[in-house]
Parts: sequence; C-alpha cells; structure tokens
Amino acid sequence: MAFLPKTQWKQWAQEWNLTHSPQRGWVSRNEWVAGSYRGFLLKVGCMGEQGVLPYILIRFPKQQDASALRERLLREPGLASMLPKGQRKRGQALEVSESSIVWKDLSMRWALPKVAVFRDWVERLTQALSQTVSPFSGQCENCRTSRVDSFVLFEGVPVYLCGGCQEKYTTEANVAEHSYQNIEANYFFGTVFAAAAAIIGAIGWAALAILTGRVFALVAIGIAFLVALSYLKGAKKVDMLGRILAVLLTLGGVVLGEVLFYAQAVHKANPQLPFAIELGWEIYKASWQEPRQPLMTLFFGLIGAWYCTSFLQKPRFRPKIDRPSATAGAR
Ligand SMILES: [Zn+2]
Repeated sequence: MAFLPKTQWKQWAQEWNLTHSPQRGWVSRNEWVAGSYRGFLLKVGCMGEQGVLPYILIRFPKQQDASALRERLLREPGLASMLPKGQRKRGQALEVSESSIVWKDLSMRWALPKVAVFRDWVERLTQALSQTVSPFSGQCENCRTSRVDSFVLFEGVPVYLCGGCQEKYTTEANVAEHSYQNIEANYFFGTVFAAAAAIIGAIGWAALAILTGRVFALVAIGIAFLVALSYLKGAKKVDMLGRILAVLLTLGGVVLGEVLFYAQAVHKANPQLPFAIELGWEIYKASWQEPRQPLMTLFFGLIGAWYCTSFLQKPRFRPKIDRPSATAGAR
C-alpha cells in the first residue's frame, strides 16, 4: 500500500504537454500521465490493486517481430544500463510486444522514485526505441488510412484511432450487446455443466484434504469459480435463476467434498470398514455439532459463488474510449 499518495507529476505533465490525471483518494496510487513524446505514445502510472508498482508504457507502430525488437533494444547502451542485475529480474523489467514496451522495475515496488528518475527512464527508453523503430506518422493504427492528430485512451491505453474506427468498435459492441440480451439462457446445459464442475471440484477438494489431512474452507471459493464458469459455458448467459443454480450447485459441491474426505478418512482409520459415501455423510452431519468448520466452508462457497456469478452476469461489451481532453488535468 502506498503511504498517503500525493499528486507528483503535474509539473512534468505541463512541461511535456502530457495529459495528467491527478492522484485520487488516499489509498492506492492512481496518478498517471499520458501523451505523445518523440512521436511515440507514452503512459506512466502505477499498476497492481494497491497501485504500488510504477510502470512506463511506450507504444509505437506495429512491428513484425517482438523478440527481435527486444534483442535490439537490449543492445542499446542507454537502456541496458537501466536494467537491474540478475537474468530473471532483467527479463521482468522490460516487456516487449509488437507495438509496445512496458518498463517496470520490481525493486521499485515500495518507494516511488522521484519524478526526475521517471523522466530519465522515459528519455532513455524513447532514445533506445528511436534507434530501432520509426515513430507514429499520424495514421490511425487500426485502418492505417485515416489521419489522426490526437490519441485516445482505449481501455486506458493511449492509441491513435480515427473517429471512424472508434465508431466501428462502438457499433460492433452495441450489436454484440443486443444479441446477448436476446439469448435465451439454457438452464439445462448450464445445470449439467455446473453439476459436473461441482463434482470435479468436490473430488479435487477431497483429494487435497486427504493429502494434507486438513479441510481448507477457502478452497470452496475455487469450487465456486469452477462452477460459475462452467454454468456460463453451458447456459451461455447468466441471469438471476442462473446465479441461484450456481450457488446451490457450489454448496452441493462443497458438501460433497467434505463427505468424500470423511468417507476416505474413516476407511483409512478403520480398514475393515469400506469406503462408503453414506458413512462420510453420517460424519458430515455429526460435524455440525461443532458448526464452525462446516459453516465456514458453506460461507466461502456462498460468497464465492455469488461473487463469481455477479461477475459473469453483466459482461461489458463496449470498449472504454476516452478522449484525453476529457480526462486532462485541468482539475
Ligand atoms: Zn481508423
């Protein structure tokens, strides 16, 4: 967690004419700057749930071969000297794809470097890039025909996208959303798939409990996740009835997992007794005399299933496209 993060990059953004989004709130670092620099597109911010890991994203026109580009970049002396020591750390610090590089130095996880350090990093990265790739030339990255003079943030990533292509993405999303709304949920296949997932999850859980000799209540969330995804696969759409089915099947899977574990435990302790689900069930019922453990697992299963299905209930079709002027740092 960042310690009371403050806005730090305002002046930098002004000097380089970047879009600036100031720090909001007291918990996670979410300040960022984005814009065009030396013909590339740049975004600097922090990633991770708590926003503690700073990154520098630089985008350029699409290249043929990301790994060849990476090799060339690593040979640039300015960039090479930035890399942390150790083969693995070096690999983690620089990610290269066909149209972007991401620099993140994991050793910077706890203390945010001074703005001068970021500026220096950006200078070196763009310098190294300009030796190996050509910058944007004012064309839309998607259709490569229309001229574009300002970037947009597509799902938070700066890109050059012309008005026509933005329109196309939005229209496609509307069509997809409309046809999704018209799908009839297939409760039968949803239930069949989810039930199979619940059984597989239960067996997996029992196996883990047998191996470790302990019942881990948290694993119920894993079953919930499996069940919810399988329900979606079978039903093609999650509605309220689907959520209820997924929750019930998750709870069924959770109970079955415990029953299987107890059945095996009895059989192991008394080899003259057979491995029998009924015996496991009897012990499971008896376990409610001390209700903490069975309640905990049901609780985690319930919360997990409810959360997972709410996540799956409303898929988002429309990409988030922001014009930087709308987010710019006048605030
Ligand atoms: Zn276009």
